[in-house]
Amino acid sequence: MQTKDIAIIGGGIAGLTLAICLKNTRFKCHVFEKNPAFEESDAAICLFPNALRVFRHLGFMREVVDAGGGITKIVMKTQKGKILAQTEPRYQLPAICLHRKALHAILLKNAEATLYPDHSLESFQNLPDGRVNLTFANGVSRVFDALIGADGIHSMVRKGIIGDGAPIFRGYQVWYGIAETDLEINYTSETYGNGQRVGILPIKNGKYGWWATQNVNLSNDDAPQDAKQNLQTIFGGWHYPIPKLIAETSQILNASPSDRIPVRGWSKGNCTLLGDAAHPTTPTLGQGGCLAIEGAYILGEVIRKYGAIEIAFQQYEAIQFPRAKSIVESSLKLGQVGQFQNSIAVFFRNLFLRLTPSSITLNVIDKFFLYDVTALNI
Ligand SMILES: Cc1cc2nc3c(=O)[nH]c(=O)nc-3n(C[C@H](O)[C@H](O)[C@H](O)COP(=O)(O)OP(=O)(O)OC[C@H]3O[C@@H](n4cnc5c(N)ncnc54)[C@H](O)[C@@H]3O)c2cc1C
Repeated sequence: MQTKDIAIIGGGIAGLTLAICLKNTRFKCHVFEKNPAFEESDAAICLFPNALRVFRHLGFMREVVDAGGGITKIVMKTQKGKILAQTEPRYQLPAICLHRKALHAILLKNAEATLYPDHSLESFQNLPDGRVNLTFANGVSRVFDALIGADGIHSMVRKGIIGDGAPIFRGYQVWYGIAETDLEINYTSETYGNGQRVGILPIKNGKYGWWATQNVNLSNDDAPQDAKQNLQTIFGGWHYPIPKLIAETSQILNASPSDRIPVRGWSKGNCTLLGDAAHPTTPTLGQGGCLAIEGAYILGEVIRKYGAIEIAFQQYEAIQFPRAKSIVESSLKLGQVGQFQNSIAVFFRNLFLRLTPSSITLNVIDKFFLYDVTALNI
């Protein structure tokens, strides 16, 4: 059978996982990344069983699990440290938290692809014979059999396929980082204030991922040093060890959580979208990356079966869209509740958290975390 060349735009979780899914097939992956190096930021990411099932299917789950720390207990607290609720997920497969750089390195190692750093996609055209012509900012222009836009929330490929403008900013800022410290906490926590939240995610070997949010009208790109001072002003009085984690973080990053209204129509000819380019979601459920991994699996399967052609891409979208929509919408709603600022709303939210049995909480989140995409008959 004839070899086909697929251009994947974006060397993030989505693009690299697809390159792994297409290993040892007649589809040759070419991964283009706008940055000068293929790497990830100094931050933590949680992966739940729904994502790890894909890695198990691909044969490197153990490597990923060993790189992180298990999430065995989740505790919800007030900013003074009072426990509102706690739950102990017991899954067949682990839920883990790990350094994004570690995950990225494992994906890169397992991918079978030609890598093109410093290649920022500028535009593409569908050609009459079904192939796609790509033009990059560095002047390179090349024709491929198919194009996968795995180029994140501000996707250039999405602009050419759907063209639905800028993502929607959801009204709060998130700062995040990894602290290296002498703490010994063996549970994940989420702490709720008024219009503010903090999450702590133990990794391993004294490394703790954390994130902190605050409601804002406009996104705020404070410099790293200012970020630390700002955060100590906002969260300095919150329960131990929040101020210590902030103080012991060398690099603090920030983002403006955004998403898009889920819409269909991800494909145009032999081009389609994957990961955040297709269905960006706010981070509250910790599912954006997991969903990208599920999507890469489905896309890999339909390409193997039908080829890198529009009909295959439509089937991928038909499977992935309802689940992506449900995650994007649920994450948005949970984030809105988490960011309640009004004292009465905060009181009732905290009361609800205190009174809800952990079995009910688990039932709600299991719908997202226990999904098994590898069991689908594609
Ligand atoms: C604070 C925060 C916490 C989160 N926590 C979690 C979590 O715990 N668990 C989870 O599953 N998800 C989490 N997410 C979501 C997760 O990070 C994303 O869903 C995931 O990274 C999406 O992967 P992706 O490969 O689709 O996109 P990206 O990671 O954005 O990768 C896109 C790649 O494309 C490149 N690119 C962009 N434009 C071009 C171009 N024109 N040409 C060439 N290359 C281009 C970019 O440089 C980038 O490398 C979190 C997000 C945030 C902001």
